[in-house]
Amino acid sequence: MSAELISELVALLGPARVLTKKEDLIPYGFDGTAALNQLPRAVVFPDNAAEVSALVKIARARRMPVVTRGSGTGLSGGSVPVENALVACLTGMNRIRELDTRNLTLRADAGVITQKIFETADAAGLFYPPDPGSMKISTIGGNVAENSGGLRGLKYGVTRDYVMGMEVVLADGSICWLGNKCVKDVAGYNLRDLFIGSEGTLGIVTQVLLKLLPKPAARQTLLATYASMDAAAETVSAIIAAKIIPCTLEFLDRKTVQCVEDYARVNLPLDSEAVLLIETDGHPSAVADEAQQIEQIARANGALTVRKARDAAEAAQLATARRSAFSALARRRPTTILEDVTVPRSELAKMIRAVQAIALKHSLDIAVFGHFGDGNLHPTILTDERNAAEMHRVELALKDIVDAALGLGGTITGEHGVGVAKKPFLKQQLGENSHALLKMIKQSLDPLGLLNPGKIFDFPVQENHTPKT
Ligand SMILES: Cc1cc2nc3c(=O)[nH]c(=O)nc-3n(C[C@H](O)[C@H](O)[C@H](O)COP(=O)(O)OP(=O)(O)OC[C@H]3O[C@@H](n4cnc5c(N)ncnc54)[C@H](O)[C@@H]3O)c2cc1C
Repeated sequence: MSAELISELVALLGPARVLTKKEDLIPYGFDGTAALNQLPRAVVFPDNAAEVSALVKIARARRMPVVTRGSGTGLSGGSVPVENALVACLTGMNRIRELDTRNLTLRADAGVITQKIFETADAAGLFYPPDPGSMKISTIGGNVAENSGGLRGLKYGVTRDYVMGMEVVLADGSICWLGNKCVKDVAGYNLRDLFIGSEGTLGIVTQVLLKLLPKPAARQTLLATYASMDAAAETVSAIIAAKIIPCTLEFLDRKTVQCVEDYARVNLPLDSEAVLLIETDGHPSAVADEAQQIEQIARANGALTVRKARDAAEAAQLATARRSAFSALARRRPTTILEDVTVPRSELAKMIRAVQAIALKHSLDIAVFGHFGDGNLHPTILTDERNAAEMHRVELALKDIVDAALGLGGTITGEHGVGVAKKPFLKQQLGENSHALLKMIKQSLDPLGLLNPGKIFDFPVQENHTPKT
C-alpha cells in the first residue's frame, strides 16, 4: 500500500484508527466461517457517516475494495476480506442515538451490539424481538446486512420486519437516508428493503431506525423430548394447526443434545432422539392457556417428557441450552461447518432424514439443530480442515444438502446469507434471469465493484471504468 494512501487515512482518522501491521490485521482476516481467511491491506475504524464517506472516496480513487465489518460473527464469509482490501470496521460507531417512546422507534449507530438494542428497549418497557444466537456480540449493522433471524422468528419475524429506515453510504461516498418513522410510506421504490440483506455489497449502513413493540407481559418456556424425530415434527404441525404461534419453536437432535449437556449441564435427557424448546409469550392468561394446550398437544403426539420452566431462571437455562448449540458442537472436532438451509415446514422431517442419509453416505459426523418453527435447519458438520480427504467428502455432502433442500422447495440459506460459502449455489436456486437481475442492481449501485467484491456473486473490480467524482 502506498505511503500516500496511509497518510491520507491517518490524516482522516488519526494513527490509532488505522491498522496496517500484519499482527494487527490478523484478527480481521476471518469471520465465523470455517476455513476462510485473507489478510486485508489495512483496517480502519470510522466514527460516523462523514468519515465512512471520506474513506470510501479515498479507496475509490485507488480502486481499492472496501469490506465492511461489524463483529465478524458472520457464517457465510461475508466480512472475510479480499486481497488488497480496506476493511471498514464499524464497532466504534456504537451510540444509541434516540429512543422515541411516542413512535416506538429506536435509532442507533450500525456498530451497536444487538443485545444493547434489546436491553435499551427492555429498560423502557419495550421489545426488540430479533435475537440471533450471536446477539451478545453481533452488531445491528451486521444483522441488517444479513437480514438475520433468531429464536423468536416464528412469531415475530426477522430483522427486516423491524427496520424502518437507515443511513447508508453509497459506493461513490454519497450519504442517503432511506425510510422514516411513518408506519405507511409508498413514496418511490422501497430502497430500504433493497439494502437489507445486501451483505455490504451495495452500500455501508451507518445508522438504523428500528421499530419496537410493547414488551409481552408474560412468557412460558417448555421443553419436550421425543423417541422419534417424526413425533417432534408432528407436534410442530399440530401446534400450528391449533392456531397457536409460539414465539420460539426450536429443535435439537440427539447428537446436539449430548454435546449441549456436556457443555452447559442443563439437565437435558440424553436418551431422546429429538428435543423441542417451545416458548409462548403475550398476555398472562393467553400464555397460561397456550402453554397448557402445547403440553397436551406434545403429549398427544408422543412426547416422552414435557418440562415447563418454573421461573425465569429455569426458562433462561433452557434457552441457553439452545443458544449454546453451536459452541457446544464446536468442541467436538477442530472444524465446525454450520449449514443453514430452510424448507417448507411440512418437509422438515424429510429434510432431517436426508441429512442423516448424507452423513452416512459420506461417512461424516453431522448434527442437526435449528428453528423448527421456521423450517430453518442447521446441519452442522463436525470435521477437521487439515484432513484433505475428509474435506473433499464435506464438499460433496454440502452439495448434497443444498440439492436436498432445493428438491424439497427450500432455500440455500435461511439467515446466514450467501457470502462466499453459498455463492456457488445461488444461480441453482434463483435461475439465470433472477441471478442476472441481482448483478444489474449491483452494476447500477456500485459500477466499479468496490464494495465487498466476491460476495453473493462474482462481479470483479472494474479497473477501467471512469469513476464519477
Ligand atoms: C454462535 C453464532 C450464532 C449465530 N446465530 C445466528 C442466528 O441465530 N441467526 C442469524 O441470522 N445469524 C446467526 N449467526 C450469524 C451472524 O452472527 C449474523 O450474520 C450477524 O448478523 C453478523 O453480524 P456481525 O456484526 O458479526 O457482522 P459481520 O460478520 O462483521 O458481517 C456480516 C456481513 O455484513 C456486512 N456488514 C456488516 N456490517 C455492515 C454495515 N454496517 N453495513 C453494510 N454491511 C455490513 C459484512 O460486509 C458481511 O457481509 C450466528 C453466528 C455465530 C458465530
